[in-house]
Amino acid sequence: MDFQDDKLELYRVLELGPNCTVDDVRKQYKKQSLIYHPDKNKNRGATVMFQKIGKAHEVLTNVEKREKYDRANGKPEDIIAKPVVTLMALYMQILYTVVRRDTLCKVCKGTGQLPKRKNFWDYGSNTSFNVNSNWDGRFEKREGSVGHGKCKNINCSYGREEKFDVFYIKITDRRLKEGLVVFKCGNEPRSNRDFWENGNVIFQFDDQTNNDYIKRLGDHDLLVSGFMRGNVSFPYTFGHTTYDGRHLRMEIKDSKPCQISFPNEGLPIEGSTNRGMLIFDIKHE
Ligand SMILES: [Zn+2]
Repeated sequence: MDFQDDKLELYRVLELGPNCTVDDVRKQYKKQSLIYHPDKNKNRGATVMFQKIGKAHEVLTNVEKREKYDRANGKPEDIIAKPVVTLMALYMQILYTVVRRDTLCKVCKGTGQLPKRKNFWDYGSNTSFNVNSNWDGRFEKREGSVGHGKCKNINCSYGREEKFDVFYIKITDRRLKEGLVVFKCGNEPRSNRDFWENGNVIFQFDDQTNNDYIKRLGDHDLLVSGFMRGNVSFPYTFGHTTYDGRHLRMEIKDSKPCQISFPNEGLPIEGSTNRGMLIFDIKHE
């Protein structure tokens, strides 16, 4: 049996959606196999249908097989993003990051085909369709080859499209130790879905906040500045621009090493609304 051209057929033969539970599968399997069992149903096609139902039950009740089948049929994967947390992000307490991810095509909702319509007369005048009287006396709409066909969204490949999503993450712990933030990307009520949800985006944060320029000194930040002896005349005034664009001005009186501190201008202090001090450690070389 080859199901490759009919996405999610294993779900469809059990009249289930891709978000169904294992219990749903078992229940529907029992119900459907009573109808299609070859001993009971002598109609042409019943054997094939019975095989499909058996295959559906086998795959969809096995976690590994189902996962493999789901992936092959377009289920989006979770994306794990590891953004670098810059000092600026820590200072502003907001991290702006862009993640490229697979997302369900909005047009075909992950089916890879033009949207399914409820009634065959909705297909329009320029499309053809067949409604066959089926072997079991029920009517069957042949939807795969008639009526809709492939999705017309040019960005759509196999029901998915690549897009860039922007995330703003509020940083509440300046140290971000083993931080993990998960953004769930489903966007419709579960009951309405007959298609996959988008995968989640999971952010993993590492503590990558130190660099050589700014050192942490307890709750405070130490900024090391050096001046070449003889290049400046005293008193010497210079400025520093904060991450939020304000200018701090400071004056050095002479060539002796010194420290100039600005209270509440450092990184936010954990568990407090205050910021630490920004300390300029001024050396002369
Ligand atoms: Zn599409």
